[in-house]
Amino acid sequence: MNILLVEDELNLARAVKKILEQQGYYVDAVHDGLSAIDYAKGMEYQLIILDVMLPKLDGFEVLRILRKDGLNVPILMLTARSAVADKVTGLNSGADDYLTKPFDTEELLARVGALTRRRGEVIVEELKYEDLSLSVQSAVLSCGGESVQLSHKEFELLKCFLYNPTMTLTKETLILRAWGADSEATDNNVEVYISFLRKKLRYLRSRVAIRNIQKLGYRLEVEPC
Ligand code: CA
Repeated sequence: MNILLVEDELNLARAVKKILEQQGYYVDAVHDGLSAIDYAKGMEYQLIILDVMLPKLDGFEVLRILRKDGLNVPILMLTARSAVADKVTGLNSGADDYLTKPFDTEELLARVGALTRRRGEVIVEELKYEDLSLSVQSAVLSCGGESVQLSHKEFELLKCFLYNPTMTLTKETLILRAWGADSEATDNNVEVYISFLRKKLRYLRSRVAIRNIQKLGYRLEVEPC
């Protein structure tokens, strides 16, 4: 489950990201309103947590723009405790819920849980992209009539790509998602596992390949039929 967190207080953003990641959510954190719009439009999220006071574009503006563009992802607004008027403005602009700062972990997780369950629990069993199909239960990757078992790290890495098939993913992002924030994994670990994944993709004769994007990271690429 992917969550976009928009919060310009860096310590709070880091803490919230960590709490959510411990619960198994994938979290992208951005720190201003314009980046929030870029990310929200560029990736698929099941929830956006949106602070009101933000640089460049405030949370209400972000909310209005996203709703105007037809994005119906649930949005949880973060507001200052005193600002009751904020809540009304937020809900009128299309927010699904709000949380007043400071909030405790339990409260945050309860709201996040409620919003991500609201449309029925979506249990994805298979991730599909082009000719690939990845079983989330068994970590078996299939293409055409062939399949291959992925190791745990290969599975975590490939999931990041399949959830964000058009994005360039940095090694930093991949480490965070496959190894976790507290790990001592390095770029070298990522390179090794990417090479394992590439071997398996070649073995399956998939049209999907993992390309190096110079100095940025990796992105999926599809060979034409
Ligand atoms: Ca703020």
